[in-house]
Amino acid sequence: MYKIKLVLFIGMCLITNLSIKAQSQLLDSIKNNSSEKRIMKNISYFSDVYGPRLLGTPKYNKSVLYAQQVLSENGVSTRLESFDKGYRGWDFSSFKVQMTTPNYSSIIAYPLAFTKSTKSAQEGELVFIDKIQDAYDLKGKLKGKIIMFKSLYYPVKSIEQQMSIRLSDEDLNKATANTDPNDVRIGYHSRISIPTLFENRENYKNKITEFFKYLEQQEVIATVEPSDYPYNILHVDGNRALPSFRLKTDYKPLASFVISNEHFGRLLRLQNLNLSPKLKVELTSTYYNEPLYNRNLIAEIPGSDPVLKNELVIIGAHLDSWHSGTGAVDNAASCAMLMEAMIILKKINPKPKRTIRLVLWGGEEQVFAGSEFYVNEHVGDMKTGEPKNEKPKISAYLNLDNGAGKIRGIYLMGNKKIEPYFAEYLQPFPTSNTLTIQNANQTDHWLFDYHNIPAFQFIQDPLDYISAIHHTNADLYEYVPKEDQEFNADLVAYLSLKIANEKELLPRKPCQYIKPNKIGNTTFQLIGFKNAKKVSLVGNFNNWDMFGLPMYKTADGWKTKIDLPKGKYFYKFIVDENWTNDPKTPENELAKDGKGHGGLTVIYVE
Ligand SMILES: [Zn+2]
Repeated sequence: MYKIKLVLFIGMCLITNLSIKAQSQLLDSIKNNSSEKRIMKNISYFSDVYGPRLLGTPKYNKSVLYAQQVLSENGVSTRLESFDKGYRGWDFSSFKVQMTTPNYSSIIAYPLAFTKSTKSAQEGELVFIDKIQDAYDLKGKLKGKIIMFKSLYYPVKSIEQQMSIRLSDEDLNKATANTDPNDVRIGYHSRISIPTLFENRENYKNKITEFFKYLEQQEVIATVEPSDYPYNILHVDGNRALPSFRLKTDYKPLASFVISNEHFGRLLRLQNLNLSPKLKVELTSTYYNEPLYNRNLIAEIPGSDPVLKNELVIIGAHLDSWHSGTGAVDNAASCAMLMEAMIILKKINPKPKRTIRLVLWGGEEQVFAGSEFYVNEHVGDMKTGEPKNEKPKISAYLNLDNGAGKIRGIYLMGNKKIEPYFAEYLQPFPTSNTLTIQNANQTDHWLFDYHNIPAFQFIQDPLDYISAIHHTNADLYEYVPKEDQEFNADLVAYLSLKIANEKELLPRKPCQYIKPNKIGNTTFQLIGFKNAKKVSLVGNFNNWDMFGLPMYKTADGWKTKIDLPKGKYFYKFIVDENWTNDPKTPENELAKDGKGHGGLTVIYVE
């Protein structure tokens, strides 16, 4: 008996030692085949040569073709998938903003995307408005004026904390200890659902379209809004006063600029001193309607197992960028790192069982244009939830889009079952093995997660990403931390290979429904709220998932049924984005789950 045990024990040690040896050999060969020089060269091409890369522009298209060429030269097979969903491109060839009165000053400025050329260099007096109605009240008095969005102005001041940070052990431990996916302990995350995000954006655009049509009728020259970053950094995308007018059928708004917060402050102070400052503005911009400029690049290392090769491990990053920097950090560096991961895998030829696929997305900045197309086409319909052919075949999707800092771990997106897998895979990376149950959204993996594909975003050292770089004119090659790039590429190559060779598909979250479900052992009902547009159910059974489980309308309210195993559960409703307790439960019986959720109803399933 003892003897057998001993033999077994020695046998186990041998296997473990062998697998540790094989593991470190694999990692060594990954490290020996990756090249920092190649990554940095590709980042330079994407940013210095082809940047900025707004979707639908010739520059974006050239950057796609460049990526394709680099991958092909290294033996990785590629294809392009175009999505002509009516997106348009936009670029400028020149612009200038100057203060001409009471003194001359060059103004630090950038035009907002998708805005029209001015007729010529035009000078005008400034009209500061607090709200849209102010401009409507000035009907007939706005000709030749420049509208200044004062309501968006909050004076910036010196940043007193460190501008660029790496995550400390304390930060990472806090993230590890988290038990609630919606508790933001690290990075950023919103609770809004994807369908609502799409809907809000459209509603806002409709409102603002009317306003810009009015300004044009009134012969306003241009609009100006302040940046919300300090140190003359311009935060310019399409998301503040002016949402993206990204579709061919969208209105073309008049020339609109973001200027530095400090310059906006100076103009406002001069106006308040009754010195009537004037600006002279000029913009020459172009719209593109070329369907082929809207596309995703797909690259593959084919699987070697006769059956499992039909399954996929997908890694992805968006190649497009906003237009004021060169999009080096957001997100050329991630693309170059993931391309490097594919090149390494091609070079070491490890014959993964499953196919490893890289997708470089177009139009993430246009609210996930490229990944929305891909997911609708191959994974599942974003409106009805109807599954498509790849849904049961994707083991995991890994996304890189949190700046260019070192990978420190993974956001598990509420998927507790995945933890032991990643804990094992990341063993050789002791500085990068933090796993947090926390959700991370607002980028392309979100749409895969919506269909309950195990989809993840990496935890990365933020450096100065949020303080200075994200969607600003400072998003330049200089802020890519060279020392982190090769490490990240090695880690992703190793991790994708591990997932590709896993015995089974990685586990999905136990419970996530995206369609009203009319079968199940437990009925949830919300009485009333007949005018609500959308009601969903959230609870500990779906990890307080921000989408909730959609409920369907009945004669007296809202209802859904789900299957729950035996146990104690807490729940709440989301009524048109408002977290709402069940009015059936008396106030004094409402519970807390001890993890930050209150106003809950308790149920027992037996
Ligand atoms: Zn990004």
